[in-house]
Amino acid sequence: MKKLIDLGVLPIRRRSSKGYTPHLLILFRSEKRHVFGIDTTPNEDSHRLLITHAHSDHYGRSAMASKKSVASEKTAKALEILCGRRFVGTTFKVGDNLDMDGVRIRTHPTGHTIGSTAFSWENEVGTTILATGDVKDSSHLPRCDVLVTEATYGDPYDPQCRFKDDIGAFKDAIRENVAFGAYSFGKAQRAVKLLRMLGYGEEIVMDSKSLELTRELMEHMGPLADLGENGKMRIVPPRYLNRLPDHLDKFVLTGRSCSHQRIQISDHLDFDGLMEMVHDCNPEVTILYHPPGGRPTKLAQYLNEKGFTAIPIDAITNVMIH
Ligand SMILES: [Zn+2]
Repeated sequence: MKKLIDLGVLPIRRRSSKGYTPHLLILFRSEKRHVFGIDTTPNEDSHRLLITHAHSDHYGRSAMASKKSVASEKTAKALEILCGRRFVGTTFKVGDNLDMDGVRIRTHPTGHTIGSTAFSWENEVGTTILATGDVKDSSHLPRCDVLVTEATYGDPYDPQCRFKDDIGAFKDAIRENVAFGAYSFGKAQRAVKLLRMLGYGEEIVMDSKSLELTRELMEHMGPLADLGENGKMRIVPPRYLNRLPDHLDKFVLTGRSCSHQRIQISDHLDFDGLMEMVHDCNPEVTILYHPPGGRPTKLAQYLNEKGFTAIPIDAITNVMIH
């Protein structure tokens, strides 16, 4: 924590009567004092709420109604479809530079979902802070001094945290009368993109939410139709698979164990990918702020053993109480 103070950065957690609120506030100075919220809920203290992507564990529903919210155009669109209400915050195209109250913020793609964004900016002592959200592809991330990142597959001793996407198994599963279980936002669009990349040109049928998200967020994805119509290739959320006819071949696209046949396709970096990201971004301090549970602590311990400096969110003791 002392290192962070030298770098002019103060991470803060918030607590209400219900316990800790998600994720972090980052306090820093440029010309004046700023507090940026990272994937947290609206609050009086923060000047801006940076939303990295539209998964429900990375924004509060209430963030939709806050003018302080900042999200990419595609993240905002996905949030509007998922929440059924208008996003009133600031939007941008991933790659744009933003001026937020005199602070220049750069935006970087992370390949996790459509519209997913990492944010970086500098404080008054020249410290570069990078907040990534969830990451699938770290190759576009810049070097930084303070890295705020995820640890979804951050357990060095869990074999399930080391994997490669099994595109071969996915390709082998492409046949008539198949159904892929994929979450509506994120995995479903990855599945459509993969099918088209692998040369599948026929109609893909999807449940209505996955279809709306795919049509609104992706272009040139070939023929797509609603599940009500007959189709040979289906993509539905994993829990819908049991409702589909028994004669279909059913697969879930996931890195986790499940009751159907599974194909390893993930929206995240695996453990080795996380280590490579930290190595390439070369921060003086890494803050592991996601997901809830023990993984941020496990990855922080490992990084500290390897000579990096890392802090899990549970060790952040600066707390604002509301
Ligand atoms: Zn996510």
